[in-house]
Amino acid sequence: MSVGEFAGFTLGPRDAGQGGPSGLWRVQLGQEWHARLRTRTEAEVAAKNQGSTRADAAFEVPLTLPCMHRGWTFKLTGRIDQLVTVFDLHTSDGGHRPDVSVVIREIKTVSGPLPADESALRTDYPDYFLQAIAYLALLRSAPRRSDSRPAPEAAADPEAILPLDLGATAGSALKAELVFVEIGTGITQSVALGADDEMSFHAQLERLAEFLDLQVRARDRLRGLQFHPAFAALRPGQETIQEDLLAAFSCGTPGTLQTIGSPESFSAPPSRRASTTVFFEAPTGYGKTGVLLEFALGRLRAGRFGRLLYLTSKSTGQLQVMRTLAAMCAPRGDAGSPQAGSAGTESVSAAERFPGPSAGGAPTPVAAWQVRPKAEHCVNSVFHCVRDACPYLADLESRWTNGGLARFYLFDNQPHDLEALRAAGRDAQLCPYEITRAALPFNDVWIGDYNYVFSPDNRGLFFDRPGFNPEQTLLVVDEAHNLPSRVADACSHVARSGDAEFVLAELHRVRAMSPLLLAWEQWTRLLAGLRHTDALDLAVEDDARDAIDRLAALVAGTPLDYAALGPGVSEILWKTLALRDWLAGDFDFASNPKLKTPNSKFQTPNSKLIVQNPELRTLNPELRTLNPELRTLNPELRTLNSEPKTQNSPPPVPTLLWCPRAGELRFTCLDAAALIGRTLRAFGGVILASATLQPADVFAASCGLDEATAEPARPDPITVPAALGKLSRRSRKAMRGLTSGAELLRVEEAEESAGPRLLLAAAPWRDNAYAVGVDTRVDTTFQHRMQFYAATAATVDALQGAAQTAAGRRSSTVDGSRTAPLAERPSASVIAVFFPSYAYADNIIKALKTAGSALRVALQPRGADLAVQAAWVEDSLLQADALFLVLGSSFAESIDLLGGRVTHAMVVGPALPEVNAIQHSRMAELERTGLGRTAAFRRVYQIPGMQKVNQALGRLVRAPGQQARVLLHCRRFAEPSYATLLSGEYRHGALIRNDDELTRWLGASFPAGNL
Ligand code: SF4
Repeated sequence: MSVGEFAGFTLGPRDAGQGGPSGLWRVQLGQEWHARLRTRTEAEVAAKNQGSTRADAAFEVPLTLPCMHRGWTFKLTGRIDQLVTVFDLHTSDGGHRPDVSVVIREIKTVSGPLPADESALRTDYPDYFLQAIAYLALLRSAPRRSDSRPAPEAAADPEAILPLDLGATAGSALKAELVFVEIGTGITQSVALGADDEMSFHAQLERLAEFLDLQVRARDRLRGLQFHPAFAALRPGQETIQEDLLAAFSCGTPGTLQTIGSPESFSAPPSRRASTTVFFEAPTGYGKTGVLLEFALGRLRAGRFGRLLYLTSKSTGQLQVMRTLAAMCAPRGDAGSPQAGSAGTESVSAAERFPGPSAGGAPTPVAAWQVRPKAEHCVNSVFHCVRDACPYLADLESRWTNGGLARFYLFDNQPHDLEALRAAGRDAQLCPYEITRAALPFNDVWIGDYNYVFSPDNRGLFFDRPGFNPEQTLLVVDEAHNLPSRVADACSHVARSGDAEFVLAELHRVRAMSPLLLAWEQWTRLLAGLRHTDALDLAVEDDARDAIDRLAALVAGTPLDYAALGPGVSEILWKTLALRDWLAGDFDFASNPKLKTPNSKFQTPNSKLIVQNPELRTLNPELRTLNPELRTLNPELRTLNSEPKTQNSPPPVPTLLWCPRAGELRFTCLDAAALIGRTLRAFGGVILASATLQPADVFAASCGLDEATAEPARPDPITVPAALGKLSRRSRKAMRGLTSGAELLRVEEAEESAGPRLLLAAAPWRDNAYAVGVDTRVDTTFQHRMQFYAATAATVDALQGAAQTAAGRRSSTVDGSRTAPLAERPSASVIAVFFPSYAYADNIIKALKTAGSALRVALQPRGADLAVQAAWVEDSLLQADALFLVLGSSFAESIDLLGGRVTHAMVVGPALPEVNAIQHSRMAELERTGLGRTAAFRRVYQIPGMQKVNQALGRLVRAPGQQARVLLHCRRFAEPSYATLLSGEYRHGALIRNDDELTRWLGASFPAGNL
């Protein structure tokens, strides 16, 4: 491990400063201060060499040294910033060697003001002190080249020798000091380290040894893991799924995306090595969660993986995972044991049959933790995580110890649902999020949102946990069809002039320093001057970059009263740092060491050419005067921007700066494929699960899995044995390129495993479960839909009538209306109508009213949370005749309450994404990379639109015996380019060309007879 990781390691929370911002710019500023201090030290050394002393200095001194403690050997690597040796020549009389002192200097930039009280520095920056003292301790125990011990003992490990010869300084005084640099001003403060600091080094070793002991315990727990199958009785199609999943990880044709479950897969020869990525497509209601958990627990027990990350964006989905795990791990013989269930034709999930306690309570042999957002943990009166605003951030270490919070990782079966954590946090007067942070490394299964793996802002929670190694982790992503858009959203930002004005007023109120005020004023003016544009003028873009660069540096280096500013303003100020990194192309993926894959040699962030290339900067003033030409040049520059600068650069991330309206600047990530692919490849195994992953090649491309890594892997050359005798220079050169067969095989296997495989889950109970009609009478395209509003309204009315007939419960009328007592109206007579937008749904409601329809329509509410959505669905099923739902919303994709309760549905046109600057740019980007216009249109518009349709329809049949009659209401559904994107069950619908055919289709009996 690095000395930095060693110093930063903690089992519980650490009292630290306000939390300094980080990012590429911060690294660059730090490098600048390092360079200046180096010059200063060189001057010091030169001055010393004038008098009775002699001095020498080494910079960036690399070292790798072992350190033993309680049976563990820690191999620490690092770089000492400065190593200054001073020889006092006065003491060299009489043939004695001169006194020598060696000073280790660690340089650290801080954003707080200097000089500061030493004790405050120790409290705020304990890691820095530990790092410096670790170097001191390592150097003290390092074997020297002049060591008199025999070579094997002194240097069994050649790396354990220092790269510089301290032999001459044996017995010399080794000292360490920390040099703090105030990042904004360059003011420095040196702090000498003492005996107390050395104690802290040993305390840190003790913490590490305890952690490793606990890790051994966790590994033993996994080896002895006991769990029940996920289902008491298997649903048709589930019988071989565990074997299929296993096969998906261990067979396939190299380099291609292969479908398992298709006929050709059975004739494919098995490959030699396990795949790392599997696409698992299974319909809604299949029981994906249970199936995947059963597979994952088996792999954990077999030692194939050390940890499972189960990501799903909905809290309800996460709770279901926790419940399923608890039920699968319930003790045998328990009344809740799924094995006690009787076999039947329908599978029953363990979670459904045996709900059990949620996160806490039941003994769970597999240790699992559901991670909720920090805001949900909060027990402060306001969610503002700065020390002056939150009393729960003070004295973290002592409160952690006094509150006995280590129980959350020391003992199994501690309840750790959100309420339990909040209660423990309140009792200990400590932020409950610290408990989650501390306990995660001791849990085998982490359950949470995509953000914890894919969002630059949140991934630190997982990736920075000690012991977390993606290579030994199985990553399961549920509802994975949403992953590309979710990651792109997480890598996009917005800045608004209204917000900037508000921040400016607040900065004036707290009397912020004038450089920051001036810079923010300039930023506010720039935002206020923006007009609607699909792509920012290059000159304005350049101004924005300058403004953000300046602001980010000022925000980082200016002390501010964030407590007085409040959470909203603080958030906007801190956002400038993210904007700075976004503009520099730093999405935190390239710089995260845990995302380095074996084949990856990317070292530099994807920086925009315009930032990196000084020549282009010089050109800029000229370009400003040539505005019209600038526009023509712009695409070229953008093209250059997205080309990898060198062979070792990471793949490009296409971005767009644009203004959807005046005063609003959008920083949009157009395609996050490169970022997703890089992240996924870091994991030892990945399962991307959803009901709609096809076309799989397009999904693979949108996850960055369509291509091999940019840098082909090269096997390591073999060491040429000395016994080969004297060889010519040419032969020696040739020998250096030789590699062993085993190495070649390893590299070949690694490349083979890069390609994903598609596993299609069988669900025979869905065969013939849908009766589909394709209504070609209408055109729902934006330009023509208005002509058909009346026809659409009439079709809704007719479909609802058919639903009532099918239910056999047509309401009787008393006074001419069709209203019946609620209790008599089964939900089976309620239809679901899916629209591409609210505006479209509103227009059809108006058309229904105009036509005098008595249909009671319930339009889904906007912005409701999941609980409200579920309640609305339940109420509407009782009180309305038709639910109007918007495709792509969580109502259409997340609510599973319609299955078996709505038998008639209608989809009003494919839900193509809104035509805007983002889609235009995506199309342009795809065309630039060689895709034809038709193919680009398919990728950008048709596939996302039809995926929403497939998602919505899939939720109507969730179990054997359920059926649905579905009307696809638009002639486009009959066009091959759309029809082929429908899931197999809906693809071959009856064509409806006129009203008579519609009437006949509505009245026809269902193929399977129920409707
Ligand atoms: S530190 Fe914790 S308790 Fe304090 S505001 Fe943040 S989330 Fe809330």
